[in-house]
Amino acid sequence: MKHSFNIQKTKTPKPKPDPDTLKFGKTFSDHMFIMDYETDKGWHDARIVPYGPLTLDPAAAVFHYGQEMFEGMKAYRTKEGRVQLFRPYMNAERTRKTNERMCMPDIDPELFVGAIKALVDVERDWIPEKEGTSLYIRPFIIADDPFLGVQAANHYKFIIILSPVGPYYDIPGGGMAPTKIFVEEEFVRAAVGGAGFAKVGGNYGAALKAQARAAEMGCAQVLWLDAIEHSYVEEIGTSNAFFMIDDEVITAPLLGTILPGVTRASVIELLKKWSVKISERRLKVSDVVKAAEEGRLKEIFASGTAAVISPVGELKFKDKNLVIGGGGVGPLAQRLYDALYGIQTGTIEDDMGWTVEV
Ligand SMILES: *Cc1c(COP(=O)(O)O)cnc(C)c1O
Repeated sequence: MKHSFNIQKTKTPKPKPDPDTLKFGKTFSDHMFIMDYETDKGWHDARIVPYGPLTLDPAAAVFHYGQEMFEGMKAYRTKEGRVQLFRPYMNAERTRKTNERMCMPDIDPELFVGAIKALVDVERDWIPEKEGTSLYIRPFIIADDPFLGVQAANHYKFIIILSPVGPYYDIPGGGMAPTKIFVEEEFVRAAVGGAGFAKVGGNYGAALKAQARAAEMGCAQVLWLDAIEHSYVEEIGTSNAFFMIDDEVITAPLLGTILPGVTRASVIELLKKWSVKISERRLKVSDVVKAAEEGRLKEIFASGTAAVISPVGELKFKDKNLVIGGGGVGPLAQRLYDALYGIQTGTIEDDMGWTVEV
């Protein structure tokens, strides 16, 4: 089904930011998408309107009990000037699972992707052209019932905003920079039965403390461990984690605590296609350390929309500083980055059928 949306254009377009100094998530485009939900009416009044502040009742449920969710994806401009999305239906399906967990209303994937396409189409000029830049897409849903009872709301807003972003790494000519990661043994991100598989605000607010402590130690992110034994590796900050020991690539299984990344799924599919051994299984951090000390830990890297692939150069575990793969960018991380980024930006042919043109 093709959806049509009411479009109200801004009378005061903003100047486009300088592509050389773009920071992540600081500049927003001229328009946003908004759609309302009411229990009796379903989703309705889908519209694209000038970007601006929202007016919400101070009692709105989202402010008090965090009934909300978000997504993250990007639109890329190819050299030929085409605009494409990367696997947006995976974000749509993830949204459905998140909403189900959060007692929020379902959204038809065609409506979800259709809304993104319509907004990106209106904001075509906001997709920067420079190498490494893209247009970050942030869909989110908030419960806006003015009611202080702890219960699922009857009113929601689904909103999409867009932000032109620069390259993730500040490296002339592009490419990746290895990061230093702290193994977090005290704080946990998510337990089985919780909402770790969903992009819901509470998971991120509760992670800030660990991230701040890692930053104090000169680390870019934390490596999260499981919530019960504090011994199995889960994720790196807000990205999925991969460990290459000998010839096997290992990533944590989806048991409800891990965010099922679109990039993670794509990495797994590429590794299978390349006949690289990939296992979704539990892995103890002590086995990672042991492999590193025996010289069998070849690479660690993280995957996510923001950086695509982020190699880990150093792991800080208790008082040990383990240098991974000589501290540089591993060959597998590089190969994955080139393949994924190439497909996303159209410099290599999309033989996986992953891109959707706007
Ligand atoms: C968003 C996110 C990821 C990566 O998901 P992608 O779909 O690949 O961007 C991984 N872990 C967490 C905790 C996240 O929030």
